[in-house]
Amino acid sequence: MAIVTPVPAAELPAGARRRLRLASPATLEPIDEIEVANAADVAAALARARKAQVAWAATPVAERAKVLWRALDVLLARMDEYIAVVQRESGKPRTDALMIEMFAACDSLAHFAKRAERMLKPRKQRLHGVLALAKSLRLVPRPLGVVGVISPWNGPFVLSVNPVIQAVVAGNAVLLKPSEVTPRSGELVGKLFAEAGLPDGVLHVLLGDGETGAALVESGVDKVSFTGSVSTGRKVGESCARRLVPCTLELGGKDPMIVCADADLDRAAGGALAGAFFNAGQICFSTERVYVVDAAYDEFVRRVVERTKALRQGASGEFEIGPMIWPRQLEIVEQHVADAVAKGAKVLTGGRRNPALPGLYFEPTVLVDVHHDMAILREETFGPVLPIVRVRDEEEALRLANDCRYGLGATVWTRDGAKGLALATRIESGSVCVNDMTMTYGALEAPFGGRKESGVGFVNGPESLLGYCHVQAVLVDRMGGRQTASHFPYSAAKDAGMQKFMRFLWGTPLRKWVS
Ligand code: NAD
Repeated sequence: MAIVTPVPAAELPAGARRRLRLASPATLEPIDEIEVANAADVAAALARARKAQVAWAATPVAERAKVLWRALDVLLARMDEYIAVVQRESGKPRTDALMIEMFAACDSLAHFAKRAERMLKPRKQRLHGVLALAKSLRLVPRPLGVVGVISPWNGPFVLSVNPVIQAVVAGNAVLLKPSEVTPRSGELVGKLFAEAGLPDGVLHVLLGDGETGAALVESGVDKVSFTGSVSTGRKVGESCARRLVPCTLELGGKDPMIVCADADLDRAAGGALAGAFFNAGQICFSTERVYVVDAAYDEFVRRVVERTKALRQGASGEFEIGPMIWPRQLEIVEQHVADAVAKGAKVLTGGRRNPALPGLYFEPTVLVDVHHDMAILREETFGPVLPIVRVRDEEEALRLANDCRYGLGATVWTRDGAKGLALATRIESGSVCVNDMTMTYGALEAPFGGRKESGVGFVNGPESLLGYCHVQAVLVDRMGGRQTASHFPYSAAKDAGMQKFMRFLWGTPLRKWVS
């Protein structure tokens, strides 16, 4: 079963671009057809973007921020329409579309509209030691030029709009390539900014699949912001390295949850469900494995199973768990569960496709008796599956949590705040939440990025916005350009004088003040 299928060449006029037919993951019925942008389309968009970027970069940040405020107004006014587009191609429950896509997008628009001017302001930086007497330093964030944004299908609107907001307010033009599985949700970003008054040519949305994405990376853009799988991210990173352009790679995750014996088990069980089953588990920082200390294990599992059984799965009306959005991902979920069961895991609830629904539905699943020889604890599952491991103590939980090639997010659950913090800082992950499901993507001040194979760079926090700039260092001489000791001609006397100066600077207790 495929939900993205190529239109046979025989059905296309000679010389036409490739086309893809799309079906709904919820019903498997046909919903759309798109034309695939090719390398020539990407090159043409890049040329237009380069021209438009010059005037856009010269527009004051405060004016650029006004476009974000207007985009926020458009989004609030058109929210139902936008949710309908996202739901149509992803099948996700309305509340998932509202919270993951719309709320997060509004929050990002408002956050950067309010703060961009301050965050992007050129600033004076005091120099160290005696250099401060001779020079002054200014740090001037300048846009990179044209940024390529490539996004996945699981958060098709928000993961497209968030990098675009930041790149655009920083003064760049953008070429956006959304996933071929959810192209119209990405297209909404273009419509949103056009309606908000972003000048023509600053943002281009190119629909297409991996071929379009690869052409975009190779096109000559000045940065690539990629969100997607590790395997594609590696290709994008290699290509950027060859071309010597920066890239941000937000890739997969296998987030651990550690439940201590003193945790509030009701809150922890609720967090486990939200972490594992929100968006049917198709979130890069979803809870993919739980380590529960022995004393809390039985009660925690009982509460989790009871609540999981109460979740509703569906295609319309009120329900909590939608379909898998991409058939290949559903197959991976099935493979991981089958591998676990074959190696001794026990399914406490779920564990199969939902026989009552026609689409790509996997029942919310709780597994126990799992161990680290199983794919379910080592590879990204990206589906509604919660494997729970009984551990002796917190040290064993930590060791297992870190026994992983991913390092995106993690959670720790304990009533002891100091212990929570201490455990959090020993987990090898980009972010950690204590006593909450992984909310760090929503904390826009927090740098959000992965360690290990979960990625390179940040998509939120000041680091992220400045990542769409080159922070130019402008060093101004305070001496009016008089010749200094470091200039030619060299001589033994100059060397001796310099050595004497160095000993004076750093060879006495004075060094603590002059360094
Ligand atoms: P994917 O890697 O298959 O595709 C992502 C995007 O890359 C799509 O737009 C696709 O068309 C494009 N693409 C494919 N081949 C390409 C190539 N050779 N060059 C350039 N672009 C190419 O990922 P997916 O299946 O759409 O998304 C799911 C993955 O994304 C999961 O692994 C998930 O963990 C990850 N993800 C990470 C984050 C994060 O913030 N860390 C967020 C969401 C999703």
